[in-house]
Amino acid sequence: MSKNLSFSYSKLGMYKECPQKYKFRYIYMIPEQPKYYFAFGSALHEVMEYIYNPANPVFPTLAQALDFFEKHWNKTSFEQKGYSSLEKELAGYAEGRRIIEAYYNKNAAGFIHPLSVEMKTNLDIDGLNLISILDRVDYMGGGLVKILDYKTGKTVQREPDQLYMYQKVVENSPAIRSLVQQKDPSVKELRVGQLSFYHLPTLQEMTFERAPDKEIFEFWQGVLKIAGNIRAGKFTPTPGESQCRWCDYRNICPVFTGKEYNPAEPADASSCQTKMADITQPIQNEQELLSAKIDRCGQLIEEVKILQKEIIALMKKNNFDIHFGKNYKAELSHIEKLEFTDKQKVIELLRALELIAKVLVPTQSTVAGLLEDPSVSAEAKNKLKALAKKSEEDSLDIQRTE
Ligand code: SF4
Repeated sequence: MSKNLSFSYSKLGMYKECPQKYKFRYIYMIPEQPKYYFAFGSALHEVMEYIYNPANPVFPTLAQALDFFEKHWNKTSFEQKGYSSLEKELAGYAEGRRIIEAYYNKNAAGFIHPLSVEMKTNLDIDGLNLISILDRVDYMGGGLVKILDYKTGKTVQREPDQLYMYQKVVENSPAIRSLVQQKDPSVKELRVGQLSFYHLPTLQEMTFERAPDKEIFEFWQGVLKIAGNIRAGKFTPTPGESQCRWCDYRNICPVFTGKEYNPAEPADASSCQTKMADITQPIQNEQELLSAKIDRCGQLIEEVKILQKEIIALMKKNNFDIHFGKNYKAELSHIEKLEFTDKQKVIELLRALELIAKVLVPTQSTVAGLLEDPSVSAEAKNKLKALAKKSEEDSLDIQRTE
């Protein structure tokens, strides 16, 4: 019988991105350049493992968690982490501390020990040796578990493959089933109740229900097909703007060199290493540029809100409806707003007036829209108005004068 193929979610992702890249990384075993965002994520994962370690009955204090983070962080230099400068590494360190402090502020009072943290599962299934590291698994009761994955990047998006892979692994893992049975011996079958991505920088959680068995079956057929391609030595490159632009192997890739990579020519590989920094640097710069623009935009929006409040206050104080700057004019108006606070009464009235079908979902704006609707009788409008609370709102309009 052939040896099981070692496989994981990251290997699946890389093969799907480009089979040639997979070949460089996992067949020729050429390591990729260190990436600062992996180092940053790994440091925070270590801290989460430290906090929730089931072997420690007492949760560490914030000071202990920060101390742990600092020691872990200082084990490697900024270059080893993949940062382009010491300043950027220091900014990463400060951001890590900020996240840990915010995490404690929000969660420390409710810390409970999970079923497992950073659990490495090794599962032989359908000729694959599936290796996964599960950030955190919680027992929900009734044979159901929740899988939680920490995210530390700038963005979080739903990654169905990752969710499917986790579900497949957890529901087939004897190690996790045994952990659950230690807590609840009556459990015969283990099911995933919930999957969630927890974004540490914003402390936001995205949760997903268990995927239907049909979806898992189809996903798994795709995995087995890819495994078959790997066994058959199919590594045809799939070049594309997004994947090649940041690929560490571009300098030795046949798509760019015009010839097959020869592992017996180490000079090529080392020249690749020296030029890789040129390739990986732009992604860091571009992400930082995007983050800076988002922060700048948010800052401007906040400044605009403050300015608008100040202008409104000054215009009201002087009883001005219109006032001119050098190039712009400001016009102040007062809008009467109707607010329907008693939703139940509004729904009952809409039913009685046979207007419920007109709004479908009764929200503030759809109900207020009925008051503008010429097909609604004046009597019905008056009854609706009687349920509304009136309020006035200042509205400022600023326009160029030329
Ligand atoms: S450079 Fe493009 S085609 Fe070549 S290995 Fe990388 S991603 Fe694949």
